[in-house]
Amino acid sequence: MSLSKFLRVKCNDCENVQVIFSRAATVVKCLVCGRTLAEPRGGKADIKTEILEVLE
Ligand SMILES: [Zn+2]
Repeated sequence: MSLSKFLRVKCNDCENVQVIFSRAATVVKCLVCGRTLAEPRGGKADIKTEILEVLE
């Protein structure tokens, strides 16, 4: 079973809000300031910033 979800996150540095995939296979960066928001870890993204909402 897949537990893939999309997460609405807020960048801790610039407060940009963007939606990222919970199983990102590559590093996800803030589209505004370039801060790392998530890193891949064991098939699941390690979220490095504030999660506002989990989108089913
Ligand atoms: Zn940012």
